[in-house]
Amino acid sequence: KSGRAQFQLFDRKLSLKNEAQQRMVESLRFSLQYEPEQFSAAYQPLYNLQTGEFKGVEVLSRWCSPELGQVAPDKFIALAEARGLINLHSARMFALIERDVLSWCHGNEHYSPVIAVNVSVQQIDDQAFQSLILTLNEKVKAANWQLELEVIESQLMTLTDRVIEQFTQWREVGIRIAIDDFGTGYSCLAYLHQLPIDKLKIDRQFLKTKTQSRKEDQIIYAILSMANALNIEVLAEGIESDEQRERLQQLGCQTGQGFGLAKPQPWHKRLMAALPAL
Ligand code: C2E
Ligand code: CA
Ligand code: CA
Ligand code: CA
Repeated sequence: KSGRAQFQLFDRKLSLKNEAQQRMVESLRFSLQYEPEQFSAAYQPLYNLQTGEFKGVEVLSRWCSPELGQVAPDKFIALAEARGLINLHSARMFALIERDVLSWCHGNEHYSPVIAVNVSVQQIDDQAFQSLILTLNEKVKAANWQLELEVIESQLMTLTDRVIEQFTQWREVGIRIAIDDFGTGYSCLAYLHQLPIDKLKIDRQFLKTKTQSRKEDQIIYAILSMANALNIEVLAEGIESDEQRERLQQLGCQTGQGFGLAKPQPWHKRLMAALPAL
């Protein structure tokens, strides 16, 4: 079709991959629109590492598709972002959060655990998303929880005045801002003092080695000292073993999350039963 005297390679693997992606996009669009119950929220607890106190939960999206089975968020979130479906996904997650948080609406005004939500950087500047967030924030506050938005560090490389302004506005209404996967973005540390943020989440790559590693410890220690100086909280991600937890405690890391502390789980009675009495 494209003329004589040339040849083209047909890469069967590539074509299969595109087909599979296309099928996933169509399935994702249909499910988000018409079968939202395929999406559920898993909540992973966050703890104070020094005292063991429960600090809140991170919300992680789960998609169980009848055709595709369980699809990892690493796969479908990127597709939702690329195909303009990310707000539809957020709307579904926020509805679940409202339902779940309201079911654990407690009366203690001095206790407000965090509910941390992952946000794609492209949503920050989106008016429809901003209004979803403000509505969610009102519901969460009314139940004595605190909304926190997690934005991945590497996505913030294109930091604009608009983003800084939006973070500032959100903080004015009591929303906390966290930088996720900190340490993977190769970004300049100098931007930290310009950013209105409350928390850094150290990526789990810094905990990878099972045995004590001086270099990793020194990096974590440097992040902690810097964050302390800037009055920013630090949370270590991916704590799997007691040894890792102890290392972080010794280094002075305040908060943590990981399979070794608690796995992501549905908002059932067992999760809430594991929490300290109020
Ligand atoms: P993330 O925000 O860094 O979330 C933490 C991921 O690490 C989760 O994977 C969690 O299950 C996993 N994890 C927690 N503790 C451990 C541990 O001790 N060891 C190991 N190996 N892994 C641990 P998950 O649920 O598969 O989510 C992957 C990513 O997908 C998330 O990474 C986040 O970037 C994205 N994601 C998930 N839900 C949403 C969402 O609702 N919206 C957006 N925009 N992104 C989401
Ligand atoms: Ca996160
Ligand atoms: Ca992370
Ligand atoms: Ca991650």
